[in-house]
Amino acid sequence: MIYFDYNATAPLRPEVQATMQELLVAPSNPSSVHRFGREAKKHLENARKTIADAISAWPNEVIFCGSGTEANNWALRAIPGRRVLVSAVEHSSVLYGNDTISVDSNGIIDLAALEKILAGGSPALISVMLANNETGVIQPICEVSELCKKHDALLHCDAVQGLGKIPVDFGALGVDMMTLSAHKSGGPVGAAALVVRRDLVLKPLLVGGGQELGRRAGTENIAAIAGFAKAVELIDFEQMRRLRGWLDAMELQMEKAGGTIFGKAAQRLPNATCVAMPSVSNEVQLMDFDLKGFAVSAGSACSSGRIEGSHVLGAMGVAKNLAASAIRVSGGWKTTQEDTISFTNAWKTNCARLAKTVE
Ligand code: PLP
Repeated sequence: MIYFDYNATAPLRPEVQATMQELLVAPSNPSSVHRFGREAKKHLENARKTIADAISAWPNEVIFCGSGTEANNWALRAIPGRRVLVSAVEHSSVLYGNDTISVDSNGIIDLAALEKILAGGSPALISVMLANNETGVIQPICEVSELCKKHDALLHCDAVQGLGKIPVDFGALGVDMMTLSAHKSGGPVGAAALVVRRDLVLKPLLVGGGQELGRRAGTENIAAIAGFAKAVELIDFEQMRRLRGWLDAMELQMEKAGGTIFGKAAQRLPNATCVAMPSVSNEVQLMDFDLKGFAVSAGSACSSGRIEGSHVLGAMGVAKNLAASAIRVSGGWKTTQEDTISFTNAWKTNCARLAKTVE
């Protein structure tokens, strides 16, 4: 099976597995004062420093938590009294129940609309993702940050899909809070962080023990956190550069065969392609590719595995029937050029064969 669903979750890197296995053996509660506890604390703080260094943050700005979903939920509830507005293409954990800011046909946030929203009304908390999980489109976070500063708004950035694929610099992006998650780049599921500007005081989401300097209660998962740091250490932008080249070649062939690539005119992640195969539903494509040995995905699958319409493509103004034939192909640390060539050939064959079935 060739795996092309890294934006859902990446295969665990063997080095990460080794690090975690070693740490799973000893009792590891970093709040304990005995030797085991001190050892756990050492691993915890080393991991915090590794991750902070990788994103140009201070170690005490990195607060570990259980998932990107948790960090997003927390960030948007952490500063009561502010109106919350999020871009229309956010992950569901950010989008849920919030007012949205529109995007253009490439999926880029409408800065004029944002400025208008910021100029009228009470101070806001804005959330804009670094890169989109479906299309890979990268948002102009520095420009969003300038507007937020001008209007006294706070800015949260969901950088879950950016980490490991493009440089992520907490300070340079000018954001107040940032979400990271380990499992999109070869780390374990269930390790994540909310990075918070040092002078910002947050209302905790979880209360209890005083872990994470009283900001997130619950015993830290040392093996997973150390695995997270290991995955960050192993980030390989050279592989990402190669991957973009292979995907560009793939996209060219798909377009020649009648495919539509989404977000094409925008800056995108190096590892992902969102492509529509004309007149073939993504559900049919996914099953067919699965039988042929390729794991790809579509927009967003709900927990039952059923494919729902993509709110991302919808916000970009893509017609419903075209959006219903879009799939996401996302690679990563293990992907080879041969993988992308095999998939390109399978896609072209399917495009010719399946399109005929609906004529
Ligand atoms: N944000 C984005 C952009 C994502 O793609 C995902 C996962 O798909 C999440 C947040 C949620 O992260 P986690 O799976 O760690 O809860």
